[in-house]
Amino acid sequence: MGALFCAAAIHVQAEPVRPMPNIIIVATGGTIAGAAASSTATVGYEAGKIGVDQLIDAVPEIKKISQVRAEQLFRIGSENMNNDHWLKLAKRINVLAKQNDVDGIVITHGTDTLEETAYFLNLVVKSKKPIVLVGSMRPATAMSADGPLNLYNAVILAGSKEAVGKGVLVSLNDEVSAARDVTKASTMLVNTFRSPELGALGYIQDGRPYFYRQPSRKHTTESEFDISDLESLPAVDVVYAYANSNRVALDAFVKAGVKGVIHAGMGNGSFSEPMKAGLIDARKEGVVVVRSSRVGNGVVARNGEARDDELDFVVSDSLNPQKARVLLMLALTKTTSTKDIQRMFYSY
Ligand code: GLU
Repeated sequence: MGALFCAAAIHVQAEPVRPMPNIIIVATGGTIAGAAASSTATVGYEAGKIGVDQLIDAVPEIKKISQVRAEQLFRIGSENMNNDHWLKLAKRINVLAKQNDVDGIVITHGTDTLEETAYFLNLVVKSKKPIVLVGSMRPATAMSADGPLNLYNAVILAGSKEAVGKGVLVSLNDEVSAARDVTKASTMLVNTFRSPELGALGYIQDGRPYFYRQPSRKHTTESEFDISDLESLPAVDVVYAYANSNRVALDAFVKAGVKGVIHAGMGNGSFSEPMKAGLIDARKEGVVVVRSSRVGNGVVARNGEARDDELDFVVSDSLNPQKARVLLMLALTKTTSTKDIQRMFYSY
């Protein structure tokens, strides 16, 4: 009897069963949903052809690790992503992120402008919940397509507690990157997304995220930008510098009524004499001028290659030209003060 009593008293403390996270996949198109004519074709396919339900059905493992729901918001190649798409997407993400039955959000996206969308959302989504952008380099129909594992990893990440509060993340090729730092770095390789010099935040392996760093710049819930009442964004364009560069395109942008211009300068943000004259004239017209660099790494020094204080120019810090455009558009929704805009470039 005593032995029996002892046996009954010993019971294994069961691990609390964690409910599967509720994940929404918001689809926008891109190669991850692309279909080509043959399994050996990796270019010359139609982006965004495959619907989100079909994408999810192709990875049945996703339903074993999450309660997944899907929305098809757009079906476009991301080269056609524009300000209107961004506002619509950001507003939808803000609505979804507020819902109690949503733990994380995955956004499928073409890789061409994925970094810009990620940075835009990083500045305007008001939530600590994981928001993960994912794409692929090979279409869904290709041999060794990278989309299925990328999508599975993105769902893992969006449902993980490790990703909470880290801002908008980008996940492809088993890596986790910060929206601010990551850029598309190869026209074709599956490891195209890199954060050169600064590095990725971590990895995903066998269904588990591993983080080693975190973003240090302000994002999401700490951001001062609010797009909830906006129907459009201020016009900002990019002028590219090169040997022999002139001011023709810049003057056309100014004439078209642009509110800000990003100069994708050479080296540490330098410009040719004709471009300098054009930028000074643009500033006199009230256009906000931001000096960035086409190099893609490093800080553009204030009062380095140009006397920014005197010319009333702003420097982009380490943001590449396409991301500097995103931040300048948002900055111009709040202020035209170059002092304040410079502060924003050093904060986000
Ligand atoms: N240009 C297309 C896009 O950005 C395909 C590139 C891709 O998704 O990898 O959507």
